Amino acid sequence: PIYLDYNATTPLDPRVLEAMLPWFTEHFGNAASRTHLYGWEAEEAVVQARNQLASTLGASEKEIVFTSGATEANNLAIKGTFEARRTQGTHHYITVATEHKAVLDPFRHLEQWGADVTYLTPSPDGLISAAQIAEVLRPDTVLVSVMYAHNEIGVVQPIGEIGALCRAHGVLFHTDATQAVGKIPVDVQADAIDLLSLSAHKFYGPKGVGALYVRKGVKLTAQLDGGRHERGLRSGTLNVPGIVGLGKACQLAAQEMSTESPRLKYLRDLLEETILQQVPDTRINGHRTHRLPQVTNISFGGVDGEQLLLHLNRLAVSSGSACTSASVEPSYVLKVLGLDDALAYASLRFSLGRFTTEAEVVAAARHVQEVVARMRNQVPFA
Ligand code: PMP
Repeated sequence: PIYLDYNATTPLDPRVLEAMLPWFTEHFGNAASRTHLYGWEAEEAVVQARNQLASTLGASEKEIVFTSGATEANNLAIKGTFEARRTQGTHHYITVATEHKAVLDPFRHLEQWGADVTYLTPSPDGLISAAQIAEVLRPDTVLVSVMYAHNEIGVVQPIGEIGALCRAHGVLFHTDATQAVGKIPVDVQADAIDLLSLSAHKFYGPKGVGALYVRKGVKLTAQLDGGRHERGLRSGTLNVPGIVGLGKACQLAAQEMSTESPRLKYLRDLLEETILQQVPDTRINGHRTHRLPQVTNISFGGVDGEQLLLHLNRLAVSSGSACTSASVEPSYVLKVLGLDDALAYASLRFSLGRFTTEAEVVAAARHVQEVVARMRNQVPFA
């Protein structure tokens, strides 16, 4: 099938694999071994990757904490902030109802620990404004967490405005930038970001490695205790090949963004316009312009969502729904944006990437058109 699910994960870029390979075999040292060459060269490779990542974010290398991915980075940012402030009275936190579960669930945890959490509802196009946040700020607000770009609908939030607001009120600002890093420019200084999460496998790096940017001076309590790696914020032997891959992947993404981004936008618009023109009763979810260049989320009125995915067997896309082992739930994100269950079910996320071609996009649009037409006309599938 044609892979249009790059927001779920991306293949490793062969250039990233090449950079990683020696760190599995001949250079296998533990980056924490200070007594011999094996350790020193592993440490040197980690330093280089840390610099590569820091420079693409506008950060200093001392502000990078390597983790197992964005889930862990979000947990460290949110629970680690709460724990570091635990003794200072009541705690209020602000986030958005459409955040990824890897943000919402740590906040549920904070509520169990006694924090107050406000879950803001974005406008129907998925945007949250700094003004909405200003309205619910309290004197005891500790942290605001708003994702940079949305995994399901691609909406890019006004992160700079939200960051400036938080900075002006002395409130910490965390952003889950998992879907933004490597796709659009992200600058922690310009956007006044204090904590930022990312995951390498979303930008052609390996799975199981990511990072948390922690602004100098921000206090966190570690969630993994042990050998005090990563300045005590994340113990555990460093995943050297993974970290090397992350560094290489973000360097490549930064180098290629200015050509890759318009190419993907052209392909995404082609896919979207073809489907919208040729398939009646369709709508795009999420803001049309404040959006990542390579993703579109489309609802198909009057078709059964489960059947739709089943019949689209030549495409690897994701439905707006999150599959758990027991049941297929309609996307909570689309429901927050006002879609009913049936329409949320019948929504597809198409996400394009580095290896997507125009021929694939044309074939994908044709396949969608044929399948939806057959379903609506109730023409049996052979
Ligand atoms: N946040 C967002 C916005 C994501 O899209 C993802 C991946 N689906 C995650 C967090 C979690 O990333 P990982 O599974 O690599 O920890």
